[in-house]
Amino acid sequence: VADVQEIIRAANRFAVPLWPISRGENLGYGGARSFRDASLILDLSRLNRIIEVNVPDAFCLVEPGVSFLQMFDYLERHDLPLWLSVPGYGAGSIIGNALERGVSSSPYGDHAAQICGLELILGDGELVRTGMGAMPHSGMWQRQQATIGPRYDEIFLQSNYGVVTKMGLWLMRAPEASAAIEIEIAERDSLGAVIECLAALKRLGVIQDSPAIASYLTSAALCSAKSDWMTGKGALDQNAETLLLRTLGLGWWNVKVRLYGLPDMVSLCLRQVEQELARLPGCSFHISRWQKGAPISSAHRGVPSIDGAGNVRWLGENGAHIDFSVAIPVSGAEALKHARWMIRELAACGLDYHSAFYLRDRHILNVVQLIFDQADEEMCQTVDVLYRRLINDVAMRGYGINRSPLDYRADVAATFSFGGNAIGNLAQRLKRALDPGSILSPGKDGLS
Ligand SMILES: Cc1cc2nc3c(=O)[nH]c(=O)nc-3n(C[C@H](O)[C@H](O)[C@H](O)COP(=O)(O)OP(=O)(O)OC[C@H]3O[C@@H](n4cnc5c(N)ncnc54)[C@H](O)[C@@H]3O)c2cc1C
Repeated sequence: VADVQEIIRAANRFAVPLWPISRGENLGYGGARSFRDASLILDLSRLNRIIEVNVPDAFCLVEPGVSFLQMFDYLERHDLPLWLSVPGYGAGSIIGNALERGVSSSPYGDHAAQICGLELILGDGELVRTGMGAMPHSGMWQRQQATIGPRYDEIFLQSNYGVVTKMGLWLMRAPEASAAIEIEIAERDSLGAVIECLAALKRLGVIQDSPAIASYLTSAALCSAKSDWMTGKGALDQNAETLLLRTLGLGWWNVKVRLYGLPDMVSLCLRQVEQELARLPGCSFHISRWQKGAPISSAHRGVPSIDGAGNVRWLGENGAHIDFSVAIPVSGAEALKHARWMIRELAACGLDYHSAFYLRDRHILNVVQLIFDQADEEMCQTVDVLYRRLINDVAMRGYGINRSPLDYRADVAATFSFGGNAIGNLAQRLKRALDPGSILSPGKDGLS
């Protein structure tokens, strides 16, 4: 930490901007690079200690380089009854992912919400601990999020005010029992009905996680290439879609719902889910159960993997992706309207619809991967123009993008324009106060 502090002070002396990364695996949202390559990358991946894992109170304290794979391995090796919420790509860091508001479908899948205490260095080199960490010799740092006054953790998320050197994160306690219901929905236009069904179960407290309702291409791209189904340019056509769905045995939408608790609680919730799913047209499902004592490999917990990154080979060796992530209301009708609109917009540009709707309590997060051929200059330009247009189109409908690749973050920030860009002005004032030399990640979100 003292070394990082010294680097930041030196950067101030020589006016050299720094761009901190934890593991630099922010694929789909920028990767290990800075905005317009204007800064030196401050690579923190070798600060990779797991400082503490507390079982009774279910939390950990980690350094930036700790990946999901490393933490999962640690919990396994020490046989600890704690489950990690893992995103679709396990090589990333716990800190970088939570700072960028990463998600998974686990009940602990809103990773930013699980942060409890940060240690960070401001742009002027001052070392700060947030929350109870500000109290010398307190054992409460990872146990209590709010203290007196503002909760400062939040302003260091997706911002460029400080370099985080430690983070506390809450973990899920391993349940006594679990079940998974793998659901296939045959028809594209049944999306609204599925969402209404699962949202009702969530409101009742039957479902605690945030199930991802994923289009068939998210599975198909992991085990096949577009060229297996269709030749020529353009979005996947109807014949190719029918052939793919039949051959791979996928639903148009596929969902995995998980239930956790005591065995009787899981049985009760499972009955309720089965009953509701039976009413859905074109829906089939498969159930598997686990109970403490059975092999942990069959428990329905997240297991980090790097296999997901192979999905860009949908377009061959030069496949790449950027992600479009927007929050919409919990409404089946609105979700279907949004899906139809995105499918149309992507198809007009020759792109396929790799999409997942994460069902949360009060909103749905829709993440669409725009997979393109990075060797195809024309396609890259098309994607660039499309992405900028989509940002404005969703803003016109009153929906906010919560995460975007670096090149588009200023465009996204500009859509939050209430009161003559008052929020942008506030962010800029904070930037001046906390990083007066503008040393940290200049240009991120249009803040310099
Ligand atoms: C196939 C695939 C599936 C994916 N699925 C998911 C998913 O399900 N959910 C999800 O959330 N993401 C997903 N991702 C996106 C991404 O891979 C992860 O979010 C990943 O964890 C981010 O990488 P990282 O943690 O190494 O972040 P980094 O690249 O290290 O950091 C990201 C950014 O955060 C800031 N930052 C990082 N560390 C610090 C620090 N210490 N101090 C200050 N600022 C810092 C910087 O601006 C940096 O550019 C997926 C990616 C792929 C390829």
